[in-house]
Amino acid sequence: MSAAIALSERGRGRTGENPNVGCIIVKDGKIVGRGWTQPGGRPHAEAIALAQAGAEAKGADIYVTMEPCAHKSERGPTCADLVKDAAPARVIVATLDIDERTRRHGIDRLGNSGISVSVGVLEQQAHRAMAGFFTRMEKGRPYVTLKLAMSLDGCIAMADGTSKWITGDRARAHAHLERARCDAILVGAGTVAADRPGLDVRLDGLNDRSPKPVVLGKAEVPEHWAEISEPQAIAELGQINWLLIEGGAATAASFLQAGLVDRLLLYRAPVIIGGGLTGVADIGLENLDSAHGQWNRLDRRDLGQDVLEIYERAA
Ligand code: ZN
Repeated sequence: MSAAIALSERGRGRTGENPNVGCIIVKDGKIVGRGWTQPGGRPHAEAIALAQAGAEAKGADIYVTMEPCAHKSERGPTCADLVKDAAPARVIVATLDIDERTRRHGIDRLGNSGISVSVGVLEQQAHRAMAGFFTRMEKGRPYVTLKLAMSLDGCIAMADGTSKWITGDRARAHAHLERARCDAILVGAGTVAADRPGLDVRLDGLNDRSPKPVVLGKAEVPEHWAEISEPQAIAELGQINWLLIEGGAATAASFLQAGLVDRLLLYRAPVIIGGGLTGVADIGLENLDSAHGQWNRLDRRDLGQDVLEIYERAA
């Protein structure tokens, strides 16, 4: 299941309103099929993996990060039917669908045809890997990551605004990988005016994965950018699951204050700037006690001389 979740990550930020599912088919201890949701949301992960496995799927174990879909679509047969027809011995599911049209129908259809079904294997990890889909279904908006690249003393730029570069090559490459894993990327109007950011993905082989640029506030931007006037308007950006916020301080504060940040990416470089610009403007904090307990650290790793910390909002 861990490998299926890793496959699901390949579709992250590219599947539109669909969940980025991963699927692995195992027969006699060997992997005979692998799949993940394709760009635009079709084909689904199970369809790809089953096509690869062919007749080997009969009697095999199918690991899938979300319950196979069970509602009819004009774009093809349901995965529950595809899986049922392939006649595997077991289907192991990480998490149920949240879409009422499928929830439990997918696993029931398999169970009723005599296939052994288990649910809940690595559920939390799978939920996290498809958090964009779950957040959109539950809250009607994309899953939001806020990125900050800062010095040891918490500055994102010198007092004159110079910020190229605080972090090193590896941290910046990682930040570009995060861009490639999002449907849309947002900056404030001030950042647009000051930096004219390109917001594209500059990594070999991933240049075609640049997310849709969005600006908060009024700014002169190219035609393909989207414009929103307040953080809550991210709900109207269309059918997207993953949004990355890259600056600046006022924009970060407005999203934090609105409770619209789900995840923090903190890149910290071993430099001291002193008297520089902070990454987050006033969020209206009334006392220190209420600042505690809001964020749980998920990961911490070295990127060259820099350190990346990833936090998730406490439930
Ligand atoms: Zn499906």
